[in-house]
Amino acid sequence: VSTRSIRPSAYRCSACDQFYALEEPIWRCPRCAGPLELDPPGQLAPDDIDWQESGIWRYAAALPFVESEHRLSLGESGTPLVPSLWHGQPVWFKHEFLQPTGSYKDRGAALLMSLLQSLGVEECIEDSSGNAAAAISAYAARARIRCRIFAPAHASPGKLAQTRAHGAALVAVSGTRDQVAKAAIAAAADGGRYAGHNWHPLFLAGVATLGPELVFGAVGGVPDTIIAPVGYGNLLLGIWEGLSWLRRAGALPVLPRLVAVQTEAFPAVVRAWEAGTVEPVPVETGATVAEGVECALPIRGAAIMNALRETSGTALAVSEHEIAVALRELVAQGIYVEPTSAVALAGLSRLITAGELDPAGRHILILTGSGQKAAAAIEATLGQPQCPMPARVSGRSCG
Ligand SMILES: [Zn+2]
Repeated sequence: VSTRSIRPSAYRCSACDQFYALEEPIWRCPRCAGPLELDPPGQLAPDDIDWQESGIWRYAAALPFVESEHRLSLGESGTPLVPSLWHGQPVWFKHEFLQPTGSYKDRGAALLMSLLQSLGVEECIEDSSGNAAAAISAYAARARIRCRIFAPAHASPGKLAQTRAHGAALVAVSGTRDQVAKAAIAAAADGGRYAGHNWHPLFLAGVATLGPELVFGAVGGVPDTIIAPVGYGNLLLGIWEGLSWLRRAGALPVLPRLVAVQTEAFPAVVRAWEAGTVEPVPVETGATVAEGVECALPIRGAAIMNALRETSGTALAVSEHEIAVALRELVAQGIYVEPTSAVALAGLSRLITAGELDPAGRHILILTGSGQKAAAAIEATLGQPQCPMPARVSGRSCG
């Protein structure tokens, strides 16, 4: 099979198949409100990865064309794959929390803001639980695009401070994550370019750069399993798209198994997986410390189910207690990430206990977001320190 790269050049509606030019100021199908995809689907021949390039632009051969003067990069992508042990099982952690603004979302923000800048967009509107707000506001600042961000009032203060620091106008919305998204979309209807990362296919294409990095990373071959936390599913779908770039180019005969881990508080994908349905439906929701996976119903639900089926993957939901236990175990290994990252770890613990991972296999878990901007949530999740002061100072023993 001869491999070749293909870059997308248009939007296509995933619901009604209508095509639109990339220059159109749209974020979903104007005709039927369906989510957009890029067309033709991207393909990436491994030889076309340009390791000399900065950031996501190494994978430019599979991305929509952006002139070099509009290619923004803060050095995103290329994060370490760190060999680790989890409950005795060798695994690799992909340190996506080491991205420029502290989460994998920088990959998507880099591409989305580059294209908007190349089209002369001067202002955009976004909604986020925090990490995407930080990413979009940073790359918007780099692009000199004014930015208005709608975020839940309860989002981590560190993420909101980061967003304000980059000059974004922050609108705190009391209510659920879905109400935040509705408020942003309503504001965009009054004028302003909606660049919501959960809707925009360019954001997803940026995240897709993670796919080839997992395949050509230092794990000694194609990974057997890739485990990711899932709320709206951008991370899982981005990885799936990146793997599909290689598969379409004939460069990936066997697909890694994708595992979606949700919290029991927001389990729409898991319930659909258990029921064997084509698309998630609304389910009862609760409260979670994992703000990054707070999503009642994903926008691209059918695509998530398809990615799990096509890779013989699975989906599982973990409890708040399991998340806290996993976070405690991870920080004890010297790794400081936000509670949302611990959702996937709790899922990993479950898979190991159930004997569902080949002990000799290559398994990768994505650590999505930095702990630096969620310190209060982490302390609350971990509970009070066992011994706040050295014993000889406080007169107490940690025994
Ligand atoms: Zn449509």
